[in-house]
Amino acid sequence: MNNRLSQITIVGGGTAGWMTALILDMVFSRTSASKDRPRICLIESPNIATVGVGEATVPRMPVTLRQAGISERDFFRETNASFKLGVKFCNWNKDRKGNRIDYVNPFAHGQMVQGLEAAEFFLRFGNGDRDFTQSISPHDHLGRLCKGARQLGQPEFEQRFGYAYHLDAVKFAGMLTKVCTKRGVEHIRDEVQSVELDEQGNVSHLMLERKGRHDIEMVIDCTGFRGLIINQALGEPFLDYSDYLPNDRAMALQIEHPKPEKIESLTRSTALGAGWTWRVPLYNRVGTGYVFSSAHRTDDQAADEYLKWLGDSGKGATPRVIPMRVGRVRNAWVKNCVAIGLSGGFIEPLESTAIHMVDHAVRWFAEHLPTKDVEPSLRDRYNRQMDKLYNEVLEFICLHYRLGNRKDDQYWIDARTEMKVPDRLAENLELWQHRLPMDHDVEFATLFDHRVYQTVLLGKQSYDTGYGTGIRDRIRPLKKQIWLQGMQRAKADLAQIIKSMPDHKTLLREI
Ligand code: FAD
Repeated sequence: MNNRLSQITIVGGGTAGWMTALILDMVFSRTSASKDRPRICLIESPNIATVGVGEATVPRMPVTLRQAGISERDFFRETNASFKLGVKFCNWNKDRKGNRIDYVNPFAHGQMVQGLEAAEFFLRFGNGDRDFTQSISPHDHLGRLCKGARQLGQPEFEQRFGYAYHLDAVKFAGMLTKVCTKRGVEHIRDEVQSVELDEQGNVSHLMLERKGRHDIEMVIDCTGFRGLIINQALGEPFLDYSDYLPNDRAMALQIEHPKPEKIESLTRSTALGAGWTWRVPLYNRVGTGYVFSSAHRTDDQAADEYLKWLGDSGKGATPRVIPMRVGRVRNAWVKNCVAIGLSGGFIEPLESTAIHMVDHAVRWFAEHLPTKDVEPSLRDRYNRQMDKLYNEVLEFICLHYRLGNRKDDQYWIDARTEMKVPDRLAENLELWQHRLPMDHDVEFATLFDHRVYQTVLLGKQSYDTGYGTGIRDRIRPLKKQIWLQGMQRAKADLAQIIKSMPDHKTLLREI
């Protein structure tokens, strides 16, 4: 009997739904002859809008676009994209004198100096007025000078150092719709009215408003925060992360570029009174938002604070409020349904990880692609992988709050002292008071390895402001001369790179 899957149905046409279609199609077209591939069908409600945010990415995105055979030039043009070299954290911490600390978490992390971590040398000897990121990578310098991520005239996807994109989320879904339907993905614009299960509890069919019955072999739930199939129909519990993370609401506004000729190649995250704002500069506009805690601000109070931060750009505007369901479903794969995107879970967007998680989720699912009867061991392994991925991101996001040192608002005190931290992070935070993060401290890293942790600890100046203050006495003996020579070379190399890179807007215009 042929037990091969003949069809996969995706419900939801946001970034998650279309990324799923794109990656599944890419994997199938590489691994099977067309007659053996499951057909992919995507059902999208014409009435229910997508979440409409999610415009900053991580360096996985260029890799995926290239693998999927999407031209970077088309991508830039169709989504008004810009380059992103990292995230600039503004005012999350204060130095000893109470001055704000700003630092960049770049898409390049640490370096070795004669076989030792550059972070160790930096902690021991510093580097004049340059912070750690500025000492070892060009990203902060380039971002500040509004420079691009590669030379004019260089081929697509050419990378001298890590980069990602800022993109228009609605246009991105539109572009993927075109690409996927051209490649044979069936697109049904209809609304799922009910989800029907068989005696084993598998999804047997969906009832669509216009087309009626739609039979299911395997269904991917990409219906956003409502989790139409995974939560509502299959009843999979949702694991709430509100004990770990304080923020449960966001508000968003798109604004004009205050200085249209200057486009920063960084996402900015600025700490406000009860959360933080994002600033995502695209080619033609800037996406902004405020992620905050409803326990500390009403919507009106948050809007006042946010509009004040926006200044003239926000005058007279009414931000759109987005309630956030923060946490994840206990199991992302249940019976013959896999939840991907916001339906599967969401951790606040501080490090722009959601699309990255979608990308991994789809690839892992494609590796485990089942027959019509789902093999439990495949499903269990997939669920464990997703569990690890959520833990990886949760731990890293919690770090930012736990090591914050602001005292000017109850929110920051609560975020630091009242929130739980995952056990492994709690253990690591004990350990890192005595030595810097090392590779074996972080067990699973699709994105956040020990060097990123080092960057945050040094960026926040934690070792100078009360955390692990005795660490310098415990650092193993290092030769200052080696570091000074390394930094002299690095300074010259960085100067050369910074000088040679073009203005960001000019580069985008060329693309
Ligand atoms: P949605 O965009 O909500 O799409 C849901 C889809 O399901 C829609 O097409 C809808 O029509 C369809 N649907 C729902 N019900 C039905 C039905 N009954 N029948 C048929 N169709 C149905 N991610 C990042 O990577 N970087 C960021 O910077 C970032 N910032 C964010 C900021 C905020 C405030 C929030 C809330 C999220 C952010 N994210 C970010 C996450 C990112 O927005 C999402 O992961 C991404 O947009 C995917 O959303 P989705 O497709 O799962 O859901």
